[in-house]
Amino acid sequence: MELVAGGGGFIGGHLVKFLLSQGLNVKSVDIKPMNEWYQVHSNATNLTRDLKDRNSCFEMTEGISRVWNLAADMGGMGFITNNKAACMMSVLINTHLLEAAKISGVEHFFFSSSACVYPDYRQEKSDIVPLTESDAYPAQPEDGYGWEKLFSERMCRHYLEDFGLKTYIGRFHNVYGPYGTFDGGREKAPAAICRKVAKAKLTGSDEIEIWGDGEQTRSFMYIDDCVKGSNELMNSNFQDPINIGSAEMVTINQLVTIVEEVANIKLRRKYDLSAPQGVRGRSSDNTLFHSLFGWEPSTSLNSGIKATYKWIYDELAKSI
Ligand code: NAD
Repeated sequence: MELVAGGGGFIGGHLVKFLLSQGLNVKSVDIKPMNEWYQVHSNATNLTRDLKDRNSCFEMTEGISRVWNLAADMGGMGFITNNKAACMMSVLINTHLLEAAKISGVEHFFFSSSACVYPDYRQEKSDIVPLTESDAYPAQPEDGYGWEKLFSERMCRHYLEDFGLKTYIGRFHNVYGPYGTFDGGREKAPAAICRKVAKAKLTGSDEIEIWGDGEQTRSFMYIDDCVKGSNELMNSNFQDPINIGSAEMVTINQLVTIVEEVANIKLRRKYDLSAPQGVRGRSSDNTLFHSLFGWEPSTSLNSGIKATYKWIYDELAKSI
């Protein structure tokens, strides 16, 4: 039996669907009431629990062979900049889940880490060298969220070394796709831009607000690649932290252009230089992942955005 922690969230909802499609039995748990889950798959066992709570972790891991920990109190740059303490509290989820997994005899444990573990000093220019796994040290991660991820990575490593629990650490780089957060303050850049463009389209506005000068760079991974990459890792014998991300680096301005082209609209760009922007440049070096699995996340931004924009447009149209 598989346990997906954070199954009511964006990546968790897609992962549950994938695991079910493989014929696996899945228990999906999230702190949110079920009517707020992005996807509820009726052939999984769906439960609401707070996994910061130790007893809930013990209850949830009983009879489980593999744990996928995707539960975290997180969001895009706006959220993690202004909620550092809340982000760090997710350490309780991973800590209690690891301990419960050890006691319950879980065999495999996946932890969703993040590119936010990488030091600020390697991400100060738009045209940065893509980040490779060893770049995480000497440590100077994103304050709050990134420190929690780096600490939890090390917890996983020591549960492997000290107790033999097989832990797997995927460092996700910006994931996007349908059935995820696009409004309310936790959304990330691709979803936020799709929402702003869709809203302009639906309301007849001709302007879009962009955080920063738009010349900051990122790479964005489509959700299907994220699920496939995580599954490859979990089925392997590779236990060091590894990037799961796209190597297609774009500026935020280029991302806006892609969304505009998909939506068939051209907007006036208004730059908010005081908004949170995160690091100046970031992309994923996939040399290690490719050498191990002969594949890497490769869905083009253009085709991933088409599916994402359509879903967000349709959702927004229901409420406007
Ligand atoms: P998400 O917010 O959509 O999903 C996380 C889920 O965890 C939410 O549904 C939330 O309700 C749940 N959760 C939070 N606290 C909980 C608790 N105490 N008990 C049980 N459930 C709880 O986010 P996501 O984009 O699906 O991210 C999944 C994981 O991947 C997270 O660990 C995140 O840090 C990591 N990650 C995501 C991205 C990305 O771009 N989406 C990038 C890097 C890392």
